[in-house]
This record gives sequence, C-alpha cells and structure tokens, in this order.
Amino acid sequence: MAGFVRIEILNTGTELLLGHTLNTHGAWLGSELFKLGLRVTRQTSVPDGEAIREALTEAIGRADAVIVTGGLGPTSDDLTREIAADMLGLDLHTDAAALCSLEAFFALRGRPMAEANLKQALIPAGAEVLPNPHGTAPGVFISPTSNARSNCAIFLLPGPPCELYPMYHAEVAPRLRALAGAVTGPVVLELKFTGIGESDFHQGIDAGLAAIPGLEFGYCAHVGEVDLRLIGSASVLARGREIAIAAFARFLVSEDGSSLEESVVRLLTARGWTLATAESCTGGLLASRITDVPGASAVFTHGFVTYSNQAKQELLGVPAADLATHGAVSEPVACRMAAGALTASGADIAVAVTGIAGPDGGTPEKPVGTAWIAVAVRDDAPSAFRVFQPRNRHDFKLAVSQAALDAVRQRLMRDSRSPD
Ligand code: AMP
Ligand code: MG
Repeated sequence: MAGFVRIEILNTGTELLLGHTLNTHGAWLGSELFKLGLRVTRQTSVPDGEAIREALTEAIGRADAVIVTGGLGPTSDDLTREIAADMLGLDLHTDAAALCSLEAFFALRGRPMAEANLKQALIPAGAEVLPNPHGTAPGVFISPTSNARSNCAIFLLPGPPCELYPMYHAEVAPRLRALAGAVTGPVVLELKFTGIGESDFHQGIDAGLAAIPGLEFGYCAHVGEVDLRLIGSASVLARGREIAIAAFARFLVSEDGSSLEESVVRLLTARGWTLATAESCTGGLLASRITDVPGASAVFTHGFVTYSNQAKQELLGVPAADLATHGAVSEPVACRMAAGALTASGADIAVAVTGIAGPDGGTPEKPVGTAWIAVAVRDDAPSAFRVFQPRNRHDFKLAVSQAALDAVRQRLMRDSRSPD
C-alpha cells in the first residue's frame, strides 16, 4: 500500500466518556505504533451502540487503517462487529474455528457457555478471525480488498487490555507492517529539564529548533519539569539536541526518559555516596520518590519526616532557639535540619525541606508557597535556598520535592566535576 500513513484509532465504550475508565488503549496503541514507525493521525472515543457507525464511517473515509477497540463482548451493548459488517455491506456468519475456540475456552474452565456468547463467533464475510487465547472475543481483520465500500484496513479488537495487548502484537502489528511496507521509523529523543520555566525554555531554543529542516519538536510541561520531544532522522535529532543542551545543559535531567529521582540514584551510585532526607512540608514524598527507584537501598539510608517543631528538635537536633527566632520555615532551620539528618544518619549527603503548603499559615513575609531547601555534605557548611511555589498542596509538595532532588543532583554533579 503506497503512502500508507494515516492510522486512526476508534475507542468504543460508554465508560470511557463517563470518565469511569481511563482510555489507556489510545495511549498504548499510539506508543506501540510509533515503535513501528507509524503515526496515529486521529483518535476518537465514542459511546457503545450506534455512535460507532458514524465514527467508523468517517474514519474509514479518511484513514488507510482503522483500529477499533471494545464492543466485541457478548452483551447487548457490544455492537462493534454488527455495525461494522452492516455499514460495509458484509453478511455475518458463524466462523467454525472461532466457535470451536469459544467452546474450548469454556470447556477448559468447566463452565457452560451462555447463549449470548454465540454471537462472538460471528464474523463478517471475507474477514479474517484474529484468535484470542486470553478471552472469548476473537478479533476481526477486514482487509482493504475484502470490502467493496472502503479502501481501508479495519481491525476490530477486544476491550480488556489483557486480550488487546497480546492480540495487537500477534495479529495486528505484523499485518500493519506488511501493509505499510518498509517504513524507516523516525527516531524520537526525549530530553527532560528541571529548574527552568516552560516559557523561558521555549524562548531560549524555539527559533534554533525551527530552523532545522525535517525536525519535529514539541514541549510538555509538568510540575517542576519541561520535556522536549524531538522527532526526526538521527542527524536532525543530533542537531536539535545540540541546540537544547548548549542552551540549558545545567538544567538537563536526562536524555533517555529517566526521571529526576532515577538520575539522582544513578549519580549517588556512581559516586558511592549515601543520601538521607529530612522533610517537613513534603511529608515523605522525597523519600518515596527516591525509594521508587530500583537500587535505592544501596544509596538511601534515612528518611526523616519531622513535621512538628518537636520532631525537628528531637530527631534532628534543631535548636529551639532557631525555631523561636526564625520560625520553622527559614534558612537557619533548613540548614539545621540538613546538618542534623547528616549527623543522625551517617550519610554522605542530606537534603532538608521546610515550607508552607497552605491554604492557611502564610504571612506577608512568608506567604503560602514559601519553602527553604538545604543540602548538607560532610566537612562542608550546609547551604540553603528559598523557593516560592504557590500551588495546591499536592502540586506544592511535588514542586518542592522536585527542587530538592534537583539540589542534590546539582551538588552531585558539581562534586563529580571537581572531586574533593
Ligand atoms: P468491552 O469488551 O468493550 O466491554 O471492554 C471490556 C473492558 O475493557 C472494559 O470494561 C474496560 O475495563 C476495558 N476497556 C475497554 N476499552 C478500554 C480503553 N479504551 N482503555 C482502557 N480500558 C478499556
Ligand atoms: Mg464495552
């Protein structure tokens, strides 16, 4: 099929539009197809029932291949196969092999087969059955040549992920590869940056990237992070990467999609250092993020959650006088917390955070969103900096944990450049 490029995904299921089920199939198929060098041109979600007819009619009018998910079950709202056959003018007939598999599925489980399941063996004339070893609903492939009303390859796939994923790999991917011919897939590079705002980031590199012919690029902002996505040939990617790194090397977290906590664990491991955390306003999020990374046990020793002043004094030795004079959210207290965590744990580096998440507790001098972050390393005075992140509690905690992890990362990078 020459010029085979337009693939559409049609996700069916009322639960997707009610928000009861997250449409993970759309994301999953998009990323799997991209691995084959194929791009999804449109994704559509429709409720169960007749809405599928209109959406499928439109999709096959635009696309070279349409992948439909869901609606192959035995219940009365599962109408994908019936509607697809009707709109393509194909009769449904019982496929002997599909019926056999259905019977075998129930026999193996020692359960009688309900009458309703019989319709799952109905296949449009001329279509191919896609076996489903993990469930009752076989998939259906209607090739462009087997239906007179469209020039489109149509795949009907079951909704449950445990059935869809293996069927995609075994049945759909090989057919798409054959239909698409030799595709030289574009390469994608995802660079993660932290400590810089999306607008500044964009402004610093956008014109340079736009001047590279054949480079497709995009930005994705998260709390405390900007991802830069580069798509194109290897040489074009190298030019895009060079521009981004020349401008923002100091903010670069990773070039392989790995998270900030993964890069911190990697740096700690490379240096043979251990880390302790002392957290007030993030309530353990820092420790949680670090321990999400496999291998953290070799580099992470203690996570102190010292929410109250009493805990800061008892566990970290923060002097009552500092708390009284400067307040819990202050540079001296953050430094005392980091130094105390270092002493109590025996770790090589400690990071401390203390801040005001809100919605209450702010003052004109220390508004909600203020946090102090301190890093302490043995034989060196702790250093601290202030961040201001006036957000909801969840995002505040995330942003502060991001800044704290980045402070550790920067310190480790600095030390790895000029080892003491
Ligand atoms: P169905 O065969 O269409 O009734 O789908 C069966 C089950 O598969 C649903 O109850 C969902 O849990 C799951 N499912 C269907 N479509 C999707 C989708 N687009 N994303 C994630 N899960 C889905
Ligand atoms: Mg359904």
